[in-house]
Amino acid sequence: MNIQEIFSALNLTDNDISGGTLDVFAPRDGAKIASVTMDTAAGVDAKIAKSTEAFKAWRMVPGPRRGELVRLLGEILRDKKEALGSLVSLECGKIYQEGLGEVQEMIDICDFAVGLSRQLYGLTIASERPLHKMREYWQPIGPVGIISAFNFPVAVWAWNSALALVCGDSVIWKPSEKTPLTGIACHKLLQDAIARFGEDAPDGLSQLLIGERDIGEIMVDDKRVPVISATGSCAMGRIVGPKVAARFGRSILELGGNNALIVAPSADLDLAFQGILFGAVGTCGQRCTSTRRVFVHDSVYDQIVPRLKKAYEGLSIGDPLDPKTLVGPLIDQQSYENMEAALKLAASRGGEIVGGGRALADQYPNAYYVNPAIVEMTGADDNVQEETFAPILYIFKYSDLTDAIARQNDVPQGLSSAIFTRDVLEAETFTCEAGSDCGIANVNIGTSGAEIGGAFGGEKETGGGRESGSDSWKAYMRRMTSTLNYSTELPLAQGIKFGS
Ligand code: NAD
Repeated sequence: MNIQEIFSALNLTDNDISGGTLDVFAPRDGAKIASVTMDTAAGVDAKIAKSTEAFKAWRMVPGPRRGELVRLLGEILRDKKEALGSLVSLECGKIYQEGLGEVQEMIDICDFAVGLSRQLYGLTIASERPLHKMREYWQPIGPVGIISAFNFPVAVWAWNSALALVCGDSVIWKPSEKTPLTGIACHKLLQDAIARFGEDAPDGLSQLLIGERDIGEIMVDDKRVPVISATGSCAMGRIVGPKVAARFGRSILELGGNNALIVAPSADLDLAFQGILFGAVGTCGQRCTSTRRVFVHDSVYDQIVPRLKKAYEGLSIGDPLDPKTLVGPLIDQQSYENMEAALKLAASRGGEIVGGGRALADQYPNAYYVNPAIVEMTGADDNVQEETFAPILYIFKYSDLTDAIARQNDVPQGLSSAIFTRDVLEAETFTCEAGSDCGIANVNIGTSGAEIGGAFGGEKETGGGRESGSDSWKAYMRRMTSTLNYSTELPLAQGIKFGS
């Protein structure tokens, strides 16, 4: 599909894509593809007010009926998968297959949320008092504010809004300033679903805020928004988390990763090779779960590291919309400069570097294609503490699994981790209490590419939030405990006697 076909399939009109002050550039060639209109502070205030009103009506619609709205959204997404996947690829630079994968993830979470809409169940709990019942209810909480990053411009919104909507909440979304077009497109698709759904859906149920961080900050500070789900860098979370806490709001923080993978002596090396390659160079190293560090046992080091280096030489780098491409561009010049700086630092620490540097600069002078890099770290105590959002794979040798796990964990972030092993003792050690300290700990699967059925998120500076599957929905609701007395007495808890 060409750009015009993509815009027209997603009903993006001239009004949506021109005349504004926020320019949008396609990472594939650096060309300007749109200028969108940004929100003002007064506009944000009005949208939050509308969302607050919409919430009051939406929370009264029965859960299974709310699920019907998300079912309609899922149907529309199935229909628009190719167009939206292409727009993702165009606007954030990931290859088309991954753009499609992102839309599939949206469809999957819609299906999950529809089922969930009939299962928002609490508990009945044994009361210590006679003729009393204790129950736990889950109630809608209010407008949910969503702030998302450029690298998953549509899936993160869907993870949050599909759950929030079935939980009875209204949603307010501020997409990344680098990917507002996919934001506008998704918002319109949800408006279509709302129109098909009918009048049970209140006006203003979904709000979109276009702008830079200052626009997000207004929502973060607004106590009418009880939940802020923010996805992005640790630096962003370090500001957003305390601000939300200061007004006693709830935040769901999904921040940076520094993900490691261990290749044990018994590993199936073919699987490990494939897992590392996709994890390290897929999405041009711009996934929160990208494989950044690999610890290879010294007995298999020479069987896998040369193979990886050879594969890096043959990677097809190029236009993300070309089906032959495996590695698309970085998002922008700043990302390229960050990669160069990280490689320089690694070299100064004795790292041996293969790859790196700009690619295809003659063909695309305004785009930032790079050669993915492998850095062999040779010092026994080497580690890398920072996440560089680019395809740099640091490789370390290890001889003792306990030591490898300790080095894997010895970083500020705690998102994703993996071990390749056929030894059950090693696999169970990796996932035991003293094993990986990450939110995700995979065995014989790489660090990236999570399914929506599990809870997604990580520990430490990754923020501690959980989204998507399992019981993540509870973060979008408030818990209510209710004790009911059907006796003719009023016994106090703990047997307290008060008065005669
Ligand atoms: P970023 O932190 O620069 O921006 C993310 C979003 O936060 C944007 O919408 C931005 O406008 C907004 N923002 C920034 N500062 C803000 C503030 N003070 N108040 C309110 N909003 C603010 O991140 P990015 O460059 O777009 O994305 C890459 C980062 O996101 C990486 O660190 C990556 O690991 C992380 N990420 C994490 C996950 C996860 O689920 N853990 C998923 C995707 C990306």
